[in-house]
Amino acid sequence: MPVPFQATREFALEADAADVLAEFKQQFHFPKKNGRDVIYFCGNSLGLQPRNVEQAIQTELTSWREEAVGGYFGGRHPWLYYQEYLKPSLARIVGCLETEVTVMNTLTVNLHLLMLSFYRPTPERYKILMEAGAFPSDQYAVETLVKHYGLEPETAILEIAPREGEKTLRTEDIIATIEAQGSSLAMVLFGGINYYTGQLFDLQRITRAAHQVNAIAGFDLAHVVGNTPLLLHEWEVDFAAWCSYKYLNGGPGAIGGVYVHERFATNPQTPRLGGWWGNDEKERFKMEKGFVPKTNASGWNISTAQVFNTVSLKAALELFDKAGMERLRAKSLQLTAYLEYLLHQLPNLAFEIITPADAAERGAQLSLYFKERGKEIHNKMIESGIIVDYREPGVIRVAPAPMYVSFSDVYRFYEILRDHF
Ligand SMILES: *Cc1c(COP(=O)(O)O)cnc(C)c1O
Repeated sequence: MPVPFQATREFALEADAADVLAEFKQQFHFPKKNGRDVIYFCGNSLGLQPRNVEQAIQTELTSWREEAVGGYFGGRHPWLYYQEYLKPSLARIVGCLETEVTVMNTLTVNLHLLMLSFYRPTPERYKILMEAGAFPSDQYAVETLVKHYGLEPETAILEIAPREGEKTLRTEDIIATIEAQGSSLAMVLFGGINYYTGQLFDLQRITRAAHQVNAIAGFDLAHVVGNTPLLLHEWEVDFAAWCSYKYLNGGPGAIGGVYVHERFATNPQTPRLGGWWGNDEKERFKMEKGFVPKTNASGWNISTAQVFNTVSLKAALELFDKAGMERLRAKSLQLTAYLEYLLHQLPNLAFEIITPADAAERGAQLSLYFKERGKEIHNKMIESGIIVDYREPGVIRVAPAPMYVSFSDVYRFYEILRDHF
């Protein structure tokens, strides 16, 4: 991509021409507004529908129609092993071994199940550290979890907030808090990227600090997976969960993803709530007493494969295999930097970008904080065919997902704001 950036259509077109991932845009369906494709900056909330999804669903409908129960063992993709088909792609996306990843249920459900495995409070060690302003569902999950153990959220949950006058957290403060809690800390549960500010946390350093005090490090990666590259195994993250309908484009309610580090995943003694799908396949249909977990992350699977909310993710992951996380991230860094540059050329709109300016501390999303008229400006953007979302108080989240957003889209967004706002 040419540098320095320029706020011109020619520059954006040149950047598109140099974009090795440009063709992927054609692989997605775009909603339309006033007869033209919208500018879609909401891939952090619900990714677009990949064009290959419809056929993939048809294939499973055919198996069901023609094979019925035989579809578990026959058909194009036997359902008995359905979660297995997604593991190689997901392992590449989150940077782990195939034995450390599986798909099941949905995100908050999986957070509960994993926390029941990994949060084992004792009278001395019972605290959970979270970022203040975590996604509400995560807050509810942790609150109800500690209550489930008979603990008080006020004493068991510790929230770390940015310093006075700052909008995002400093890694050194997170580390210092973990060290200060020491042996009272049972678990760190952080969002990998905070959904509101767009801040990407240093998962490796947080994990290392948690391990130094013998605490567990778990992450909600809803806003990270398919957005920035991860090395969960190498960083020794203990567990993680994510949803598949944001950057992964798996569709609304798509099956969630789960990672469990090898040292726990291969150990049948790791506590968990079981079900027949997590049971060793050789033993499963003997229907005998005694749960024998699979010695991989699928040992956390509980129920029969959810084929119809897995198939669209399976199709979407084919695109990730072709694009590759490294290339997606490389494009994303440029795309978001270009968006940031253009936003700085808009003197008439009064907002502050609260997402860190350092690219190492963010993914595709920039959060624009409007002291005034945020909701009104958001509504006007939607009217203008710009799909972004609004989060109280005052933040419009703008997320150019590199898989299907072009430099020209970013430029057109700027042009509309410059000329009509
Ligand atoms: C999107 C998101 C969720 C949503 O959870 P579901 O169980 O899929 O509804 C939860 N946590 C975070 C951090 C999210 O970004």
